[in-house]
Amino acid sequence: MATDPRGGGRGRRAGAPPFPFPALRGEDPLTPPLILGAGPAGCAAAIVLARSGAHPLLVDRDAEAGDVLCGGFLSWATAERLRGLGIDAEALGAHAVERLLLFGSGRPVEIPLPRRAFGLSRKTLDSTLRRQATEAGAEPIVETIRQVNGHHVLGRQREWRPESLFLATGKHDVRGVTRPRPTDDPALGIRLRFRPSATLAKRLAGTIELHLFDGGYAGVVLQEGASANLCLAVRKSLLAEAGGNPVDLLSNLAARHPHFALRLEPGWREGAIETIGAVPYGWSASTTDPGLFRLGDQAAVIPSLAGEGIDIALASGIAAAEAWLQGGPAAAPAFQRKFYESVKDSMRWAGAAWSLAETPAAAHAGLAAARLVPGLIAPLMAATRIA
Ligand SMILES: Cc1cc2nc3c(=O)[nH]c(=O)nc-3n(C[C@H](O)[C@H](O)[C@H](O)COP(=O)(O)OP(=O)(O)OC[C@H]3O[C@@H](n4cnc5c(N)ncnc54)[C@H](O)[C@@H]3O)c2cc1C
Repeated sequence: MATDPRGGGRGRRAGAPPFPFPALRGEDPLTPPLILGAGPAGCAAAIVLARSGAHPLLVDRDAEAGDVLCGGFLSWATAERLRGLGIDAEALGAHAVERLLLFGSGRPVEIPLPRRAFGLSRKTLDSTLRRQATEAGAEPIVETIRQVNGHHVLGRQREWRPESLFLATGKHDVRGVTRPRPTDDPALGIRLRFRPSATLAKRLAGTIELHLFDGGYAGVVLQEGASANLCLAVRKSLLAEAGGNPVDLLSNLAARHPHFALRLEPGWREGAIETIGAVPYGWSASTTDPGLFRLGDQAAVIPSLAGEGIDIALASGIAAAEAWLQGGPAAAPAFQRKFYESVKDSMRWAGAAWSLAETPAAAHAGLAAARLVPGLIAPLMAATRIA
């Protein structure tokens, strides 16, 4: 297998501005940065790098963005960070979300969001980010990466030896740079996309719903084109109790939770249900090697209940690109440390919220307190946003 010549070549594209690296002036130009994964993290890095003339290579196993399993909730902070990249969620047809409705035992609790958030499918979001990255000058490459060994990146068809590697493969680990696998009853993601009836669409309008269960939660939000996204994060044991069948798991939950049952309209069983296993909630990287920048879920996996994963992905991509533009591959360890420091408190708060939500007695007490003191949840929502 031949090494891709661009992996060892000069990084400047014909007609592109020279690299603005004052710290490296006088030295050989760097090879183009190689970004693995064209999700929000990889694309954000690609956009910033390409806009600075660095001509990154943006590698993804899929030629087109798919509809990644996700709650599809863009927090107000995420929407703002997207605006900074030139992307307006509203202009993409995203559904505006103004309030959170929390369902547990007893009456639901309604909490106004501090600013407008959105429901948007990952297909639309990721396609837009990819387009923005390629229009800025990133080179898209379709390849499945099988292994990373130091600076040696091995795909199915090609290999590279870049000086700088941006690891943004999200939920999927690559051999050689894996994250520790969660062991003790790990969390799973389950997603059902559907077209709600007019009655349900009216009920969901302007709202993100969180239904809290013993062992997990479900989020429901409307998205562009009047579709709805129902996404659960649950313990593996809950799925095991349902014989490993997600349809039976949803039926069991509906039998126990009348509000949740109303979200499963006739015919829901015929819809496609996707699952993803062993999400390492709470994991984060505080160190790395020079030349290896870990981004998005490969940098920190915030419990999804907080609805902040996409923002972490975008923020890490932008920060890593800026660090690289300042200091080249040597900047990776300092970037990783600084990014870890900037997310660690939000991660802790989100972890506490997830523990509370999935434990019935704690969730019951928390919701009862929130009914008495409506302002109680707002500081928690703020604490789970990253700096
Ligand atoms: C159940 C659940 C619900 C969630 N809900 C929300 C929510 O509502 N709001 C929110 O903000 N966050 C949510 N998140 C978190 C959010 O989905 C992630 O944090 C976010 O997708 C991370 O972005 P990323 O760019 O790091 O990775 P990803 O979005 O996973 O993108 C990774 C990319 O890498 C590519 N790739 C993977 N492996 C390879 C390989 N070997 N070779 C080549 N390419 C590869 C993939 O094709 C993909 O395009 C949720 C997470 C879960 C588990």
